[in-house]
Amino acid sequence: MNIFDMTIYELHSALKDKQLSSVEATTAMLERIKSVEPQVGSFITVTAAGALAAATAADRQIAAGECTLLTGIPLAIKDIFLTEGVLTTCGSRILENFVPPYSATSWKKLEGRGAVLLGKLNQDEFAMGSSNESSAYGITRNPWDTSCIPGGSSGGSAAAVAAGEAIATLGTDTGGSIRQPASHCGCVGLKPTYGRVSRYGVIAYASSLDQVGPLTRDVADCAAMLGVIAGHDPMDSTSVDTPVPDYAASLTKGVKGLKIGLPKEYFIAGLDPDVQRAMDAAIETYRRLGAEFVDISLPHTDYAVATYYLIATAEASSNLARYDGVRFGHRADADCLLDMYNKSRSEGFGVEVKRRIMLGTYALSSGYYDAYYVKAQKVRTLIMNDFMATFANVDIMLTPVAPTPAFKIGEKVNDPLQMYLSDIFTIPVNLAGTCAMSLPAGFSNSGLPIGLQLIGKPFDEETVLRAGYAFEQATEWHLRKATI
Ligand code: GLN
Repeated sequence: MNIFDMTIYELHSALKDKQLSSVEATTAMLERIKSVEPQVGSFITVTAAGALAAATAADRQIAAGECTLLTGIPLAIKDIFLTEGVLTTCGSRILENFVPPYSATSWKKLEGRGAVLLGKLNQDEFAMGSSNESSAYGITRNPWDTSCIPGGSSGGSAAAVAAGEAIATLGTDTGGSIRQPASHCGCVGLKPTYGRVSRYGVIAYASSLDQVGPLTRDVADCAAMLGVIAGHDPMDSTSVDTPVPDYAASLTKGVKGLKIGLPKEYFIAGLDPDVQRAMDAAIETYRRLGAEFVDISLPHTDYAVATYYLIATAEASSNLARYDGVRFGHRADADCLLDMYNKSRSEGFGVEVKRRIMLGTYALSSGYYDAYYVKAQKVRTLIMNDFMATFANVDIMLTPVAPTPAFKIGEKVNDPLQMYLSDIFTIPVNLAGTCAMSLPAGFSNSGLPIGLQLIGKPFDEETVLRAGYAFEQATEWHLRKATI
């Protein structure tokens, strides 16, 4: 087996049994990155020297018998995570020279377990997008078909896992940015409940929606990564102080008697036939495994995209006010302070980011605040209530992740509304603040991966992971590899 195709557990046992050293594994990954990057473009920065130094330290730990599951495992993370001493751009020109003085908690936790950082992954600028085409550092291509997008905004995080450029990665999900690229690239991606994972050191897009989560080759790896990054962080007051279960331990409990809701609003007439077929087959698989299905309704689903684009843009317009050329990144030459602000921001931000700042500023402006922003907050509560009321009767919900498989590069760049509609099935989960996972559930006729979404109750990632694991054990979709 190729080292670059291994799961965390597979590589861990090879390292522990001394069949392989972390330096060898890391070198193999760096070679792999070199050979496929010209076709895929997952990375903004490759940290080869740092990776080899971390691998050497990991090998010493392994030799001393002090190894954790992650010791010596080569990972990569989205460029939205601050990394001490390592360039962090968030996909934007405005941060082209930004080297942070500290690291995000989620990465520090992985690093503390001995993980090796291969580099920083491409993404849509400031995590705004669904196709990875809005990055200032070039597009990322889908390893299954390089004429297609990998999804976004964590497109590099998904493509790197699918192309064998990292054993696992971290992404962020504000409206679908972990689940949708995971679905398009055939990997597992989990958006934890809001508050489950610290956002400290994660560049903010929409603070009430952003969450950090893993993208992996299988559900067991996903459970392992979540177990490490989850938990209260005194540096993020929105991270919740609730116990983190042993996710790996409950994976094998099965789904017998589990009640799975099928929200009718997610099985719409316009659904791509390949996606519909994959969902039907998944339902059949779960039935065979002993799960029960319940038809449910989340009546405010139709309002989710509009609500999201008011709240997310409003928060973004406020969060992105800090990029003024004074303290971070790009600073334009100008004669006076106001000109410096204007020029730095005009030159530093891309078109999609500017569009969002303008939309958000408008929604927050006096006179429109009540009509748009406050109204959107009220609708958000209705959407949240839909989920909470339904979860009284079901354990999890099953839906598609995206209405279609990956689309072609360039297909939606000039039609923002079409682009926004890629996230109709993922956005409501962020508005409700609950957790959901995407996992491989089939392929389209043209060979593109299709993901299945399992939505769980707040802080019940355990049941989502357990249900995902049962599905994975009963199917072989996750074993197929992109032939890049
Ligand atoms: N595509 C959505 C957006 O552009 C979601 C992005 C995300 O989850 N970060 O806002």
